[in-house]
Amino acid sequence: MSILIRVDDKFIPLYRVMWVAATPHFCGEEDCTREGYYEIRLEQGESVWANLAERDEMSNRLELWQGGLGPPDEEPGENLW
Ligand SMILES: [Zn+2]
Repeated sequence: MSILIRVDDKFIPLYRVMWVAATPHFCGEEDCTREGYYEIRLEQGESVWANLAERDEMSNRLELWQGGLGPPDEEPGENLW
């Protein structure tokens, strides 16, 4: 499993992600280009903006990654005789 995930035009290493927005961005500004996108906050105050599919993929991958780097679909008991 790769530790990189693509958001917009960038590959983001999972360990750089601080948090992922639960709700889409809305600030009410007329010329806002981020409306409806989900903010993904990185270290050092950087952000990237994900669509819903990218946001879901990111949060899924983070959950799997938190559980370790082993294969997520390993069958329990597979290595028992
Ligand atoms: Zn905005």
